[in-house]
Amino acid sequence: MKERTAIQNGTVKTLCRMCNTRCSIAVVIKDGIMTEILPGAGNPVNDGRICPRGKTALEHFYHRDRILAPLKRMPDGSFVTIAREQALDEIAERMAALKAEYGAPAVGVWKGEGVGFLQQEGYVRRFIRGFGSPNYFSNDSACFNGRYLGNRLVTGFWNPYPRFDAARLILLLGSNPPVCHPPFMKEFADARSSGARLVVIDPRLNPIGCWADIFAQPLPGTDGALAWGLINLLVQSDAYDKDFVSRYTVGFSEIAAYARRFTPEVVEAESGIYADVVRTIAEMIADSRPEISIYLGTGLEHHENGVNNIRALTILSCLCGALDTECGLYWPERMPLAELSSRKDPSPSAPLPIGADRFPVLYDFTGEGHTMTAMDYMLGMGEYPLKGLVITAANPVVTHPDTLKVERAFKNLDLLVANDFFLTRTARLAHYVLPAETFLERSEIHCNIKYHRVYLTRKVAEIPGIENEYRFWHDLAHRLGFGEDCFPWKNETEVNRYLLAPSDITLEDLKAHPGGIVYQPVRYRKHETAPLPTPSGKVEFASGYLKGLGFSEIPEYIPPFHLRERADDYPFLLTTGARMTLFYHSRHQNIARFRLIHRRPEAEIHPDDAEAIGIADGDMVRLSSRLGSIEVAARIVHRAELRRGVVEVYHGWEDQPVNILTFGDVNDPISGFPLLKAVPVRIEKLASQKAVPAPADLVSEECADPGFDD
Ligand code: SF4
Repeated sequence: MKERTAIQNGTVKTLCRMCNTRCSIAVVIKDGIMTEILPGAGNPVNDGRICPRGKTALEHFYHRDRILAPLKRMPDGSFVTIAREQALDEIAERMAALKAEYGAPAVGVWKGEGVGFLQQEGYVRRFIRGFGSPNYFSNDSACFNGRYLGNRLVTGFWNPYPRFDAARLILLLGSNPPVCHPPFMKEFADARSSGARLVVIDPRLNPIGCWADIFAQPLPGTDGALAWGLINLLVQSDAYDKDFVSRYTVGFSEIAAYARRFTPEVVEAESGIYADVVRTIAEMIADSRPEISIYLGTGLEHHENGVNNIRALTILSCLCGALDTECGLYWPERMPLAELSSRKDPSPSAPLPIGADRFPVLYDFTGEGHTMTAMDYMLGMGEYPLKGLVITAANPVVTHPDTLKVERAFKNLDLLVANDFFLTRTARLAHYVLPAETFLERSEIHCNIKYHRVYLTRKVAEIPGIENEYRFWHDLAHRLGFGEDCFPWKNETEVNRYLLAPSDITLEDLKAHPGGIVYQPVRYRKHETAPLPTPSGKVEFASGYLKGLGFSEIPEYIPPFHLRERADDYPFLLTTGARMTLFYHSRHQNIARFRLIHRRPEAEIHPDDAEAIGIADGDMVRLSSRLGSIEVAARIVHRAELRRGVVEVYHGWEDQPVNILTFGDVNDPISGFPLLKAVPVRIEKLASQKAVPAPADLVSEECADPGFDD
């Protein structure tokens, strides 16, 4: 690898993108080689700290398995290296042919997060709209949008990150900040030092749960019952914020009437959380409001009633008056940036993406198609064929539900293009694989709405032959004839200047302030002087919009799939999708030092369940759902860590992907999200034992010398 660095010696300050938290870092360069990642100062996001993932960004950049040139798959399945110009020419030619034969909607795009975030999303949406197809897809069909929709349906806005350090009570549900968002922990520590109390609700005892005043383990998918129980207790005891409710909300009488049935005893019967614990949590909320932070992780959105459960918990925040406050649901004011692409095609005659008819709320709020429905179209079971797909930095074969169906669907495509760093399980199915650039090889604008800060990430290095994400879409669009209209900028710097044009902050300002610039002071309680961005202008406990689409107007509780449709053949509940400290979904499993700690896929099992099946720690087991099986090692956890009957498997492994077991056809009717947190499965002990690779073997065989090839 012959990289060129921005400077020969010194440090370049930028943002880490090994996850989406975007901490400030300093990249140390010696004699033209990047040698170390240090935490960056001056950014409140990480305040001079760095997590283990961030420290390994150079192992990712210099990884010996990185794709450094375009690859074309041959009829025998092998890949050959071809020139970039040839790859783009052939891809463009095949896309044009598909468009001519089947129409533009026969081609779609799929954006992951491996290379970027909102700026990349703008490029991808811009491209597919210029091509003439509505079919923009993303990993957000299975992650994030459930919470986004739940919040927006109630308050009209989304801000995922409260100021925990200003709270007197923090209530976490299905979330594990030390693992998912390590920088948050400073705020938790500050809050706890100031006397804030912490309640953690999760079927899994995670590190944050060990730190809580109250930790409760509900049955997966029953958070909505708890939310309604707490709403009921606040209303019955007159402990809610009556002034806030009367002035700024609609639908109170409807939710008050519905909540009455959720007595603490009913909540206990449904969720398994003791009635007295429910009462105690309600008293803590009443005592602490409005200084409460209720924060939800992905644990809630991966159920068929996920959005409504999230809506109920958002209503709980609003009943406490915790709206647009420092620690509550903060209504962010966005930086005035030029738009790369609107989420929805403004033309009234524009065709809708695949799945928009099944999941109109997902489409209305995000303008994207539904990936699980798209699989049917790829398999010839839709209204028209989806024949071509360009995937950028996503690995749906591993991360999307129903792995075997995804593989069948992708194999059925006439054209599959993958833009990625490594030859992933998805990329191996592609007809063409383009080398993607890491975050150290590009420059882009980032906004953090929690702190109202805007940043510029810096291009620290480049590898000849690898073009950045902008060039990829730009060059393809120009070959297809809409480049001048959609991608008129020569490079990322021109794009960044275009984005900043509506503001009075320049690129030079941002270069001079690597810790970011506050684009506007944070203001609270804006709803007291301006209508909220909901149809009624108020907090919507009851939604006329949803009622108009045939949904219940209040977020009624529906018992989860496993309580409604218990299958004797599959007595365990699989939960998956939770993050690990060292991995980020399907990323970073090839970082050598991480594989010394997480050596193989494992199923975490309660000791009593393990004893009942005759499983010892380390035994190989087969997990089966109605869709397929995987074979992984058993890890017997402490009895406090999991509820009996629940088994947990991490979701990002290329080998034995747990999504072979998960369902793409059991969906939340509002978000379209798949069921990932309570999948009925069976566990069997395997007679034969697989040897567990020793850490030394992993290093020498798979990822030795992760440093510098040259
Ligand atoms: S939390 Fe870690 S991986 Fe994520 S941006 Fe910060 S340092 Fe990077």
